[in-house]
Amino acid sequence: MPQHFLLSRQAKSLTLAQVFRMTDAEAETTFRKLRWSDTDGAPICPACGCLDSWDCRRSTGLPRFRCSACRKSFSITSGTLFASRKLPLRGYLAAIAIFCNEVKGKSMLALSRDLGTSYKAAFVLAHKLREAMADELKGRVVGGEGKAVEIDAAYFGGYVKPLNRVENRRDRRLIENRSGKRKAVVIIRERNGNSVPGVFPTESHALSFIRSRVAKGTVIHADESRNWDVLNARYDMKRINHLQAYSADEACTNWAELFFSRLRRAEIGHHHHVAGQYLLRYAQEAAWREDNRRVPNGDQVNRVAALAMKRGGSVDFTGYWQRHLAK
Ligand SMILES: [Zn+2]
Repeated sequence: MPQHFLLSRQAKSLTLAQVFRMTDAEAETTFRKLRWSDTDGAPICPACGCLDSWDCRRSTGLPRFRCSACRKSFSITSGTLFASRKLPLRGYLAAIAIFCNEVKGKSMLALSRDLGTSYKAAFVLAHKLREAMADELKGRVVGGEGKAVEIDAAYFGGYVKPLNRVENRRDRRLIENRSGKRKAVVIIRERNGNSVPGVFPTESHALSFIRSRVAKGTVIHADESRNWDVLNARYDMKRINHLQAYSADEACTNWAELFFSRLRRAEIGHHHHVAGQYLLRYAQEAAWREDNRRVPNGDQVNRVAALAMKRGGSVDFTGYWQRHLAK
């Protein structure tokens, strides 16, 4: 029997011990190369794009540069996802390694214990890493001639706790007794390829999203849900009735189920609540982990760190601290 990838040597290309053994100078060089990969780490002014700057390190030793053209000063993380950072650079690399090593997601309380930060700081940092992962999914189109894509949906959130006494309990299947927070996560997954997740009020709201993300000529595999019937007009469809079998006549949605298995385990085992405004981020994280499950962990850390350093500030969390200071 072949060895499982996660048990192999290739899966373990970076250890936390290696990260913590890094000197400040080594961490600095690593992040400089991730951010300014085109110039092999030589700083480029984020304000004007000038290549000429001088080192004006703070007295505390924090690296800082000043642009020769516009005279603005900037740091390695200015204008990136890690702008206004509080941790040393090594800490961010460690955080990314811890985050990537947990294949079903990392509890943010555990991350705060690992890093010695507040829960809120760990929460914001983990969500920023999800944002970085989501960058790779932006505008992704899967499938094409001769390729197979699976689609499926699952509902998350909106749990209504039954009341203690039987006489007070209400029928939670009725719409008027639901919380209204229940959302459908829809996954589009190419076999042996990449995934595209989306979040919608119900699965029937996902149809135009599916049409825009699945290339023409693709064979779509889906379950018997009537909501997918209209896709017949555009794609060759193979349907599987899960009441009868999980796989029949080559039709199956097992790749899509693997994604939901990972997201559901992340919800149950780590996050407990994934519904609400960040549900899409959790779905994107699960999709990224699923697509990269056979990538060595050192490469995963590099990819996420590079994504974080290549993008601008956070969409979800810019101004978060100011908005939440009073709470
Ligand atoms: Zn400049």
